Amino acid sequence: MFGLIRKWRRDGLLKDAMPEEWLGYLKQHVPFFEDIPEEKREDFLDAMRIFIAEKEFVSANGMEITDEVKVVIAATAVRLTLHLSIDMYNRLSEIVVYPTDYRHPDDEDGIVYGEAHDWGVVVLSWPAVLRGLKNQQDGLDTATHEFAHVLDRAGGQFNGTPELRDRGDFSPWAEVMSRHYLDLREQESKGARHLLRHYGAQNEAEFFAVATEAFFEQGEKMKRKAPDLYEELRQFYGWDPAADEDE
Ligand SMILES: [Zn+2]
Repeated sequence: MFGLIRKWRRDGLLKDAMPEEWLGYLKQHVPFFEDIPEEKREDFLDAMRIFIAEKEFVSANGMEITDEVKVVIAATAVRLTLHLSIDMYNRLSEIVVYPTDYRHPDDEDGIVYGEAHDWGVVVLSWPAVLRGLKNQQDGLDTATHEFAHVLDRAGGQFNGTPELRDRGDFSPWAEVMSRHYLDLREQESKGARHLLRHYGAQNEAEFFAVATEAFFEQGEKMKRKAPDLYEELRQFYGWDPAADEDE
C-alpha cells in the first residue's frame, strides 16, 4: 500500500516539466552527465527529480540550499542506482549540507568531507562535492562515497556488501571483495601505492565506498589492474565506465 502511494505521488511529480535551469546545473557541475547513454537520460532525470522531491535537504552552518545544490547532489546519488532501483534510497531521509569542509564535533584529528549516519542521514560538504565531481579521474568523489555507504546499509548490515541482484552473486562477491580488501591492507601497511585509496583499508564498508569511487572515476585502470573487482562492481551497478573512457 505504501508503495502504491509512493508510486502515485512520483507519477504526479513527473507530469510537470523539469525546470530548464536544472540541465544547466548538470552541464556545469556534473561531467558524467555527458556519459549517460541517450536512452537512459530520461530515467536519470526522473530519478533525480524524485530524489529531490522525496529527500529533505538541510542547511548547516548557513549553507544556502538552492536548486543547484539539490540537482548536483541528487545527480550523484542517482547515478549509483540508475541501473538498480531508486528505492534503495527509501530509508535515506535527509542530506545535510555544509558550506565548507567541516570539522566533526567528535573527531579531533581531521576535517571530514562527508559521512553517512545510521540509516537516514548523509552529511556533505558542498565544496567537497564540487571538487569530487570536477576531477573525474582521481578516484576521489565524496558524494559518491557517502551514497555508496547508503546502498551498503540498504542491504541490511553495514559491511561493504549491498543487496546484490541475485542470491548466487553473494559468494563470488565476498571472495573477490575480501581478497582485494586484504591486498589493500597489506599494501597500506607497507606504505605502497595501490589502485585504491588507502582509506579503503579501514574496514570492508570503507573498502566498498572507496572501490565505488575508483570504479566510476578510474574504471579503465581498475579493469586493467583488477578485472575481477571491476566485474563485480559492473554487475552490481550495471554501469561499464571503462567503456566510456577515451583511451
Ligand atoms: Zn566512508
